[in-house]
Amino acid sequence: MKRAAAAQQLLLLVSTLAGCRALDVTQPIALVPEVSWNTLEAGILADAAECWNLQFGTQFRVDRDATIEQQVRVGYSDAACLDAGGLTIAAPPVRVAVCPLSYMVSIHAKRSHVLMDVLIHELGHVANILGHASGHSVMNSESILRPEQFSNEDIALFNDANADALPAPGCTVRIPAEPYDDTVAYHPGREGCACETP
Ligand SMILES: [Zn+2]
Repeated sequence: MKRAAAAQQLLLLVSTLAGCRALDVTQPIALVPEVSWNTLEAGILADAAECWNLQFGTQFRVDRDATIEQQVRVGYSDAACLDAGGLTIAAPPVRVAVCPLSYMVSIHAKRSHVLMDVLIHELGHVANILGHASGHSVMNSESILRPEQFSNEDIALFNDANADALPAPGCTVRIPAEPYDDTVAYHPGREGCACETP
C-alpha cells in the first residue's frame, strides 16, 4: 500500500511538471545538504555533482549556506527506502531524499559506495530528467553496477529534458569504477569523476 501511494504521488508530481522545467541548468544550482551531513557526506555529494558538471556543463555547487538563488535540499528520509534508495521531488522546491545509510547498506549487501551511486542518479532528476534509461546507464534505477561513463541514453535524456536551455557541453567523463564486492564492509570514500584524455 505504501509503495502504491508513493508511486501515485510521484505520478502526480510528474504529470504536474510535464512540459516545464523546475530548474535552469544553465545557471548555478546550490545543493544544500541537511545540517547533520558530515564533511565526508557533503564531499560525496560534491563528487557526484562534479560528474554532471564535467560532462554536461551544469553548475551544481555544494553550498551549506544556501547563497545561490536556485537551491535543492539534500537529506535522509525513510520515504526514499520505498524506492531504489533515493527520491527526488521534482516540484519546486526541488529536494532529494536519500534512504538512511543504515537501511541501505543492509538492503544493498554491504555495497561500499552506495551513497555516491544514489546521489549521482538523483542529480539527473534534479537536472530535470523525469524518466529513466533502460540500458547500463546512470539513469537506470535498476542498475546494480555503476557504469564507467554516462551512456548515450543518459545524454539523450538530459538533452531532451533541457532542450530549450542547454548548457555548453563538457567533456566525456570517466566515472570511477565500483567493483561489486559484498565481502567489503561499508566504507564510504571520496570518488571523483575525471575527463577522459584523448
Ligand atoms: Zn530515478
